[in-house]
Amino acid sequence: MKKVKRCISVGNVKIGGNYPISIQSMTNTDTRDILSTVSQILRLEQAGCEIVRVAVLDMEAAGAVGKIKQHIHIPLVADIHFDYTLALECMKKGADKIRINPGNIGDKTRVRQVADMAKARGIPIRIGVNGGSLEKDILQKYKKPTADALVESALRHISILDECNFSDIVVSLKASNVPTMIEAYRKLDKISDFPLHLGVTEAGTQRGGLLKSAIGIGSLLNDGIGDTIRVSLTADPVEEIKAAKDILKVLGIRKSGVELISCPTCGRCRINLIQIAEEVEKRLAEVDKNIKVAVMGCAVNGPGEAKDADIGIAGGIGEGLIFRHGEILKKVAEDRIVDELIAEIEKME
Ligand code: SF4
Repeated sequence: MKKVKRCISVGNVKIGGNYPISIQSMTNTDTRDILSTVSQILRLEQAGCEIVRVAVLDMEAAGAVGKIKQHIHIPLVADIHFDYTLALECMKKGADKIRINPGNIGDKTRVRQVADMAKARGIPIRIGVNGGSLEKDILQKYKKPTADALVESALRHISILDECNFSDIVVSLKASNVPTMIEAYRKLDKISDFPLHLGVTEAGTQRGGLLKSAIGIGSLLNDGIGDTIRVSLTADPVEEIKAAKDILKVLGIRKSGVELISCPTCGRCRINLIQIAEEVEKRLAEVDKNIKVAVMGCAVNGPGEAKDADIGIAGGIGEGLIFRHGEILKKVAEDRIVDELIAEIEKME
């Protein structure tokens, strides 16, 4: 059962409360290069990104925030480290959220200026605790970035904003070690009602990063923890959105497109099922239907094993069956099986 958190607004997207789990990504362009950044954000939007973050390294990048905002359609988060004047400038330029850790921006008057402006403009702040950049004293106390160290750091940042009467907060506790990240979020979830932004940091390349994120983010979501997610991949950020959508789809949290199931094949399989499954997956990528499609290796067990699928194929010798909800629809030649399956899917409501 999902614990209901406070609700915050990032532009027109709500995080927390009973709102759906939103999908985020971060651009990897130079934010000062407005054309490239906007073009990447538009591709991310098309893929299903709902909140986008840009790195703000200097005043020129902060200035670009306003111009980028004019051309995009989803809320924009400015990611800032240390320099509170960049946070102020980004908010003036219309950033919908800022990611900054109040404990890292110096004396309290600076924090107060950031908190006051954010409050006056209704802009939330994400406290982004990261295992790789914990405060020195916390690291000394715990020796390494443990779950308790991450939580202590988050609570410290939260209390700094609390002193400024600021509570429009989202928290992330990212670590590259998946069990640590899971434990940290679980601990904070028990003691706080701030909405949580889930992610595994430095997760890795497309395959490895997806695996780590699926386990880390997926385990937490399955426990009802988490309000917004970002899959971090060393890849085109569009792949992060695809991965995030797949994680939500696998968990049954969000229906988005076709779910493909396929058997692992065994000695009963007499067709080239691996190639067929890959071809079906490729052709289904553009199909916008909330259906389950099965690709099974044999007609003896396939239709029965996949009877909860809306439609599927099962291999024979040089031919295959197309079935719906376990019932055989027709028999087709092996070299026609993918085309016939796709044609049947296109006919479905
Ligand atoms: S569907 Fe047939 S080929 Fe595939 S794993 Fe099951 S028994 Fe083997």
